[in-house]
Amino acid sequence: AKSDGKARWRRHDPALSAAIIERLELRAAMETALARDEFQLAYQPIVCLDDHTPVGFEALVRWLHPTRGLLMPGDFIDLAEESDTIVALGTWVLREAAATAVAWPGTPYVSVNVSARQFHAKGFADTVLTALADTGLPPDRLMLELTESLLLRDDDHQVWNDLAILRDHGVQIAIDDFGTGYSALSYLRHAPIDVLKLDKVFTRAITSSAQETDLVDGIVQLAKTMRLKVIAEGIENPVERTLLHGFGCHFGQGYLFARPLDPAAVPAWLAGHSI
Ligand code: C2E
Ligand code: CA
Ligand code: CA
Ligand code: CA
Repeated sequence: AKSDGKARWRRHDPALSAAIIERLELRAAMETALARDEFQLAYQPIVCLDDHTPVGFEALVRWLHPTRGLLMPGDFIDLAEESDTIVALGTWVLREAAATAVAWPGTPYVSVNVSARQFHAKGFADTVLTALADTGLPPDRLMLELTESLLLRDDDHQVWNDLAILRDHGVQIAIDDFGTGYSALSYLRHAPIDVLKLDKVFTRAITSSAQETDLVDGIVQLAKTMRLKVIAEGIENPVERTLLHGFGCHFGQGYLFARPLDPAAVPAWLAGHSI
């Protein structure tokens, strides 16, 4: 497909040129968007599957673009990841999420997505600890979500060392989108992590066949054997919720419980959903 693209580019396909120019424009605009305070966070509740009480919230970034309107992460995160823009954006997300969560009633944690490039940037652990110190959020009320590839490609174990430091402070470490990527299980035995986030493709497939149901059951049992907590993503209906709960999955996230919320809506949601 890449060589196709090149050939079409050479023939000056106007639609393709427009798409490339649009991406370049968006990438340039991102650099000033941070200074202009155009990014926002939405917070999606994570609940205990026993009784649906909230335990935390995942911070999800949005870009309120001055002319294009509200952009979702799928529209710009991959662009940000092509340069160090993701490092600056990631630091903003971390600090904004911590500053917001510290004011929530009760002690729910906030879970923040971390890109590989951001994690590999110099001083990542310090950036996290400084954000916690500056905002006053207790370390055990922060969760970081990383992808499996980050742990598996870490030849010099710098990532593992940084994670160990953060865990020693009480920060929780989750593997995001578990099961979609590398599926090498051996690393899990010693990995410095606390939580597996079961990807929504598994939640979606859980009712599709007996084999798929057994697969999800097996993944949850595996996680429990490893003493990891499991958060199932993308729960949209009571059938999925009940099956996952029956397998012993502790926590869930999805439209069945709540869509990502505006920050201003979080305290009222918490008040209405706590026991
Ligand atoms: P993710 O980490 O897997 O986040 C969950 C995504 O699933 C969110 O999409 C959320 O709105 C959506 N979702 C939640 N419940 C349901 C459900 O029941 N059904 C379905 N179909 N979807 C559900 P969103 O907000 O568009 O985020 C997309 C991705 O962008 C995230 O996937 C994450 O990988 C990335 N992302 C979001 N915020 C950040 C950030 O601050 N930094 C980085 N590096 N990546 C981010
Ligand atoms: Ca703001
Ligand atoms: Ca995530
Ligand atoms: Ca995920």
